[in-house]
Amino acid sequence: MTETDLDDTDLDELVARWLPFYEDAHRHPELSGQEVRTTTRIEAELDRLGVEHFRVSETGVVGVLHNGPGETVAFRADIDGLPVTEETGLPYASTDRAELNGNEVGVMHACGHDTHFTSLLATVEHLRTHPELWAGTIVLLFQPAEETGSGAAEMIAGGVWDRAPRPSVVLGQHVMPLEIGMTALKAQNLMSLADSFTVTVRGKQAHGSQPNAAIDPIVTSASMIMKLQTIVSREVAPGAGVVVTVGSIAGGTAPNIIPDLCTFTVNIRTPDERTRESVLAALRRILQSEAEAVRASVDIGELNRFPRCYNDPEQTTVVVAALSEEFGADQVLRMPAAATGSEDVGAFADAIDVPLVYWYFGGFPPGAPTISNHSPKFGPDGPGALRTGVSAALAVLLRYRGRP
Ligand code: ZN
Ligand code: ZN
Repeated sequence: MTETDLDDTDLDELVARWLPFYEDAHRHPELSGQEVRTTTRIEAELDRLGVEHFRVSETGVVGVLHNGPGETVAFRADIDGLPVTEETGLPYASTDRAELNGNEVGVMHACGHDTHFTSLLATVEHLRTHPELWAGTIVLLFQPAEETGSGAAEMIAGGVWDRAPRPSVVLGQHVMPLEIGMTALKAQNLMSLADSFTVTVRGKQAHGSQPNAAIDPIVTSASMIMKLQTIVSREVAPGAGVVVTVGSIAGGTAPNIIPDLCTFTVNIRTPDERTRESVLAALRRILQSEAEAVRASVDIGELNRFPRCYNDPEQTTVVVAALSEEFGADQVLRMPAAATGSEDVGAFADAIDVPLVYWYFGGFPPGAPTISNHSPKFGPDGPGALRTGVSAALAVLLRYRGRP
């Protein structure tokens, strides 16, 4: 028997029962902060399974699963989709649209969060129908707005840890372009810290033929953007795992007018707090100096911030043991370095100073082309991803709260 006491037939049946829920969720994704339908459906399933629950923040749902005396663990699943128009060609592909900053956009579960909350609900069903397997309390965190880095912070500000029992560990998982049945993780920093800013450069407007009368915010922005590249190449150590990306820029209306304003957005990924502080200091210093050099002014506005995602080394050992027993040790990849993606799950653990363990799981058939999360073509295999997600969640939860 594996860790979960689920044989293949039981698992296939469990996954088959949740497949329609999953396909419906995939068909109807919702943007960060707009997860109204998704939240209502999660609550309906928790009701059906007899799990008490409450809302924290507008679209955050917390379920509390009790089974006698014992310790408490928390398991988080994020629930939001992305402003991406789906191109997977799946029969249950999303054609939904939504409003984002005044524009209509396609919406898609392009990060696979639908596999996260469906796997967690299926896991809850198994735990409810097999109370003999475990004891204690499991706090289920269905978190909105992961993609904007705001959901965990909102649930914490909304008092999640005042209202839910405090756990001794926070757990969670994310589907990745890995094969079905595979998991991957590492101790310490699993992912990057991330910060995004809007930079507004103000100059002085003039006719395109009279650059001498202008302070050109476009040339200034261009110079800033090139200089920002020296943060990675000249300010931090080679291989430090720092990324500086300028992902959008806007300024001006016509070739013969020098505008008074140009804006661009910067996304910064750093491996730890100390590097983050020095990179952000370099960003501010470069932008201010470049503006000063031409008598322009610059405003730096914070867009979002992703905290650290730090896997507690001791608890990571426990999770690796559970996953290895469930899937086989060769199916549990030990990552050599932190990924440059970001996550806000760590905020739940850091807010109450308890350990976190977060891992990746696979959802793609062997030999499938590698398509990364956030791509319009990111389409995990439904049954395979759920099978892996449910087995991993159950294996780890039962390792922590198994058989009284
Ligand atoms: Zn994502
Ligand atoms: Zn994600």
